[in-house]
Amino acid sequence: MEYRLKIKNEEIVLDSWPSECPFCHKHIEPLLLFNDLDRQYLELVFKCPSNYCNRLFIHRYRTHNDYSFFLDSTTIGSIKEVTFSEEIRSISPSFTQIFNQAHFAEQHKLLEICGVGYRKALEFLIKDFLIKKDSSKAEVIKKKALGKCIQEDVSDTKIKSAAQRAVWLGNDETHYVKKWTEENLESLKKLINLTYHWIEMEELAKEFEEKMPNQK
Ligand SMILES: [Zn+2]
Repeated sequence: MEYRLKIKNEEIVLDSWPSECPFCHKHIEPLLLFNDLDRQYLELVFKCPSNYCNRLFIHRYRTHNDYSFFLDSTTIGSIKEVTFSEEIRSISPSFTQIFNQAHFAEQHKLLEICGVGYRKALEFLIKDFLIKKDSSKAEVIKKKALGKCIQEDVSDTKIKSAAQRAVWLGNDETHYVKKWTEENLESLKKLINLTYHWIEMEELAKEFEEKMPNQK
């Protein structure tokens, strides 16, 4: 989508316009307060219209031809944290912490390292999940490679399938040469989401079975 703006009687075209406030993360129609055009760069100062927020933020655009501008960078506002269900938090507090650190890195555009963080979060989730299921295996699980744990110790086929693929992509993030060039960070996050949702469902189902045992 294109956005047109008049600056110093010249019409310029922008490739994007903010629709979310980087501070309150609400969907907004921002107020444009100020613009500063300096050769190939244009900076726009916006204000969030929400009365609870009212913060200012800047979008910086660049151009190669003086009339069409592309978004180059934006103000980093407040960091969004992912909140996990009670089930996931009780299985693996480390997973929720590491996942959010990776998420933090991603929001700061540290894209070369956040994948490794997500991969580490997944390892804690799977291993903590397996240890919770059978604490007698704790020492073995802790030392075993993650791929092997999934292969040998995860019995649910849905969790196994999603977790395995997440590991393939996650390991790729640590390698010099990528094997899964078509897949990206978004796919890795989707697979991790899928994995923890399956784990969450299994936990929930188990809780209800314990609370409401089979009737004779
Ligand atoms: Zn706001």
